[in-house]
Amino acid sequence: MTPSAADPDAAALIAARPALRMHVRDGLLLEDAPLAAIAAQHGTPTWVYGAGTLRARARLLTQAFPGIAVHYALKANDHLAVLAVLRCESLGADIVSAGEMMRAVKAGFPAARTVFSGVGKTRQDLERALASRLGQINVESAEELQLVSDVGRAEGVRVPVALRVNPDVDAGTHDKISTGRKGDKFGIPLQDIPSLYEHAARLPGIDLRGLAVHIGSQVLALAPYRAAYGKLAALVRALRAQGLGVHTVDCGGGLAVPYRNETVPLPEAWAATITNAFAGLDLALSIEPGRWIAAPAGILLTRVIRTRRHGMVRPLHIVDAAMNDLARPAMYGAWHGVVPVSPIALQAAPEAADMAGPVCESGDFLAHDRLIPPLEDDSLVAILDVGAYGAVMSSSYNARPAAAQVMVDAGTAALIRPRQAVEDLWRTELVPNRGS
Ligand SMILES: *Cc1c(COP(=O)(O)O)cnc(C)c1O
Repeated sequence: MTPSAADPDAAALIAARPALRMHVRDGLLLEDAPLAAIAAQHGTPTWVYGAGTLRARARLLTQAFPGIAVHYALKANDHLAVLAVLRCESLGADIVSAGEMMRAVKAGFPAARTVFSGVGKTRQDLERALASRLGQINVESAEELQLVSDVGRAEGVRVPVALRVNPDVDAGTHDKISTGRKGDKFGIPLQDIPSLYEHAARLPGIDLRGLAVHIGSQVLALAPYRAAYGKLAALVRALRAQGLGVHTVDCGGGLAVPYRNETVPLPEAWAATITNAFAGLDLALSIEPGRWIAAPAGILLTRVIRTRRHGMVRPLHIVDAAMNDLARPAMYGAWHGVVPVSPIALQAAPEAADMAGPVCESGDFLAHDRLIPPLEDDSLVAILDVGAYGAVMSSSYNARPAAAQVMVDAGTAALIRPRQAVEDLWRTELVPNRGS
């Protein structure tokens, strides 16, 4: 992550994002709402989401995928206010835990258009899924398949199931977000599918619908998708030749967003890859994107506490957001754009600098060796594209309460989660009485 002359500067980062605008007096705006005013009212660090961006991106996807069902992957951002916006764009839901199932139900996603993936579903999770009449369970192993059938039989129903295939395709993404290679913990090895599918078709508690695949996240090229879908299409033909019914293919998520200056596939190109791969097979197709919809809709608003210059290789801006808020830089080495909120900062020549939070970990960096406009103590900064895998991955490490969350809609900002009180961190902690 060395600074590169090719890196977009603050003005270019703003120009590339339709939700952002620099106002000569009010400074950086997200969907026409001044971020400085939000910081003044709610403090920092604060997550700010643009409802208009969520809506626009949901629409772009549904338009790019006519006839293909779009299920939003809740894990990217499961705030009820975000779900309320996406629910109204008639997306279905992709969930990976019982907690997400309850959120999806609470947000009003239709159960019939909710798909449950994940390698560790418990009997209780499956019983809840049946009680909620979820549309499909994506089964990730032979062991889980047996459990699903047992639960279905005990309840006297046949559970709609797809088998998640591990196609052994390298999505070319970060190790920690790759899911479709042999040895990754997800899905059933391709070569095991024909026998397991035949077995599943005979299980009493199973209504076998088809196949599912999800090769990873932040997938920057279409080739891995093409490879995976090619393998699945061949599998569909082989299974049908065995006399088995295959009705659905869930094509997964993972479409990348440009955080830095990456060239990413357009949704239309991803859609064409899917329709070409499965042409003529008469399947009900679906996708499960999370990041693509939510990431560009959110920023993390933070304030410079102080800048260390003495004895440093570069100036180090210590800000009040940290890895406990935004884990991605520390966890994946992720690059997020950093833009000052003040309109004046943009006019000064940028300098190479680091940006870190107050957490006591060397890994607690938000930006490393970046060309950033000069910042003063108390300057506000927006960290970009954090609408997905941002607040959902937060922790309270270093006894840091959860940041506030705000949603902007049509230029008006509404608080959607107050900053957590420090006392709330220990409210449920119990100290055993030692009789002293
Ligand atoms: C995480 C996940 C997704 C969404 O991935 P994105 O990269 O956010 O689009 C889709 N399907 C499954 C099974 C997942 O685990």
